[in-house]
This record gives sequence, structure tokens and C-alpha cells, in this order.
Amino acid sequence: MSLTGKTALITGSTSGIGLAYARALAGEGVNIVINGFGDADAIETERKALEATSGAKALYSGHDLTKADQIEAMMAEAASAFGGIDILINNAGMQHVAPVEEFPVDKWNLILALNLTAAFHTTRLAVPYMKEKKWGRIIQTASAHSLTASPFKSAYVTAKHGLAGLTKTVALELATFGVTANCISPGYVWTPLVENQIPDTMQARGLTREQVINDVLLAGQPTKQFVTPEQVAAIALFLCRDEAANITGANISVDGGWTA
Ligand code: NAD
Repeated sequence: MSLTGKTALITGSTSGIGLAYARALAGEGVNIVINGFGDADAIETERKALEATSGAKALYSGHDLTKADQIEAMMAEAASAFGGIDILINNAGMQHVAPVEEFPVDKWNLILALNLTAAFHTTRLAVPYMKEKKWGRIIQTASAHSLTASPFKSAYVTAKHGLAGLTKTVALELATFGVTANCISPGYVWTPLVENQIPDTMQARGLTREQVINDVLLAGQPTKQFVTPEQVAAIALFLCRDEAANITGANISVDGGWTA
């Protein structure tokens, strides 16, 4: 079955991995709702490019997903434009690196809200339509940190482990409705999220930029290569296909062997 005419909402898709998902799904003729922050002109250029690729519609939602009422507004806008969401990709995420005893409480709360609680809200709001249609795909960008930990990332590791648990629970609840729920767990992908944590890691560990890249980021990634956003998006595309209808509750690593 073709994906043409379906609608995908991808949180945090103005950049990085999220944008790669949007481009991959647009290539299949899917209506797209992109979300996230950034320069308004650049986002509008990207939105038009998605429509040119898909021949379908692309909508931009700039809602802040750390807030439940804004998530509700985004989901309502998407439902009024497209009827509902067939493919939900919970991808928006942020990171903060600090020792646990110094971890800023406001950063803890934000990371839990964006990386975990937002996925609960989008899921609870998307599921009734998917159940009614007897078809749906829920895909989380989790992380190798949904399976294993690293020091100084207490909030992120906690949120990503929680996201893996949410996904398995939702997979079981929806198993007879034609709706699958899965995590994709990348290792280090070269995106702004990774680039932006280099200065904090340099400070937290007293290292140079090169040492952070080679000895911290790629230290545990046996291939010694960053994953690309396109490699992650290709897995999501596969999970949307009928061939993947029996993959549910899974956590698929794309981490160069990190968690092997
Ligand atoms: P990125 O910083 O390039 O993209 C993050 C996106 O989230 C952006 O579109 C940003 O505008 C959006 N965003 C940030 N705060 C938001 C908010 N409050 N409300 C709505 N949108 C918001 O990051 P990325 O590397 O592409 O990360 C995407 C996902 O992949 C995250 O969940 C991240 O944890 C996960 N991940 C990334 C890596 C990596 O190495 N880059 C590895 C594993 C998992």
C-alpha cells in the first residue's frame, strides 16, 4: 500500500533528524506537519520545498511542545487541516550536560517535558483517529541513551528510557488496531543538537573540542562515524510500510554498534 495521501506530523522537524524524516516522507507523497523553532523565512522555504517534493500539503506549527496546551493546539490545527494524523513521529528533543548535583532544576523539567511528556500528549491525541482508521504509525526518535547511560546526562537518559517504556506500552494497547509503535535509537548523529553540546562537554570534562569529538562522542561508536539523519529517516520510512506491520514495541538501534 502506498503512503500517498497519508498525513505525518513530525515534532522538532525544522532541523536535523526531524527535517530528514519530513523530506523522506514528502518523497512518498505524504502531507506533512512540521514543527519546531527557527528562522521564519528558512522554515517557509523548507515548507514550500516539502510541498514541491510531495505534491501534497505541508503545514508549519511553531508551537512550544514543553506546554500541554500548545501541543493540544498543534494537534487541533493538524486535525482541522487533514482530518487526523496517520504517522506520528515524536522527535523534538533537547540536551543539557552537567553533573547531577549541579543539574539545573529548570533544565531537568524542560527536558522531561519535551523529550518525554510531549510524546505522551501527542500520542493520546493522535490515537483515537488511528484506531478509527485501523491504521497508524507511532515512531519515536529515542536514542542509544534509551538503552544505556552516560555520565552528566541524567535528565536526557531518564527521559529517553521513559520514552522507550511509553512506546512498549502503547504498542501493546494498539496491537490489534493496525497501529504500531516503535523507537528508533540513534547513536551520535551529526546535527545541531550534538554540535551544541560540545562546549558544555568541554567544560564538564576539561577537554578540547577535538578530544570531545574523538574521545567522548565517537569513543563508544565502534564504526567511528557519525550516523546521518538520512540513515535514521530511512528506518522510519520502512516502519511506515506494510512490510513492517508486525514490527511493534521494538527499539531499533542505528548506533554504529554502540549498544552491541
Ligand atoms: P536538533 O537540535 O537538530 O533538532 C531539534 C528540533 O526540536 C528542532 O527542530 C527544534 O526547533 C525543535 N525543538 C526544540 N525545542 C522545542 C520545543 N520546545 N518545542 C518544539 N520543538 C522544539 O536535534 P536532532 O539531533 O535532530 O535531534 C532530534 C531528536 O533526535 C531528539 O529527540 C534527540 O534527542 C534525538 N537524538 C539525536 C541524536 C544525535 O546525535 N543528534 C542521537 C540520538 C537521538
